Parts: sequence; structure tokens; C-alpha cells
Amino acid sequence: MVKYKVEFDKELCIGALACNAISPDIWPRSDDGKVDLANAKLNKKTNKFELIIDEADLEINKESAEVCPVEAITITKIED
Ligand code: SF4
Repeated sequence: MVKYKVEFDKELCIGALACNAISPDIWPRSDDGKVDLANAKLNKKTNKFELIIDEADLEINKESAEVCPVEAITITKIED
């Protein structure tokens, strides 16, 4: 099954909340004025938050990545 990895670079995030407007469940606001990627784990090597998703969640995550003004959200295909 195809899987995708969503990566969120919180350092880049400026709290524009465009992603939150697309999906407040995936991108809940955090206390620091930015957002969190729900259920994601911090990769200490890259310092990015990572979440593995399947095809069903791809479109909404893509939309979030596209509206982010600082490109803090990236999505890569990881499995065929
Ligand atoms: S759209 Fe980008 S900059 Fe704005 S809150 Fe989301 S991740 Fe941060």
C-alpha cells in the first residue's frame, strides 16, 4: 500500500494558521502561537515532526502544504 510521509518544520512555521483553516484536526493550534501536526513524532535527526499517512489523507495534507506561506509542510511518497 502506498504511504506518504508528512514532515513539518516547526522552526519555519510563522503561525499563519492557513493549514489550521484547512484542517484544525490535523493542525491544531499550539500554545506557542504556531500549530502542531497531530499525532506526529519528532525526528531528532532532522528536527522535523513526521507523520505517516495513507492515500485517504493525502489530499487534505497536500492542500495544507500548498497553502503554507513558508513551505513548512512537505509530503513525500515512501512506499509502493
Ligand atoms: S500554514 Fe505553515 S506557517 Fe502557517 S501555521 Fe501552518 S505550518 Fe505554520
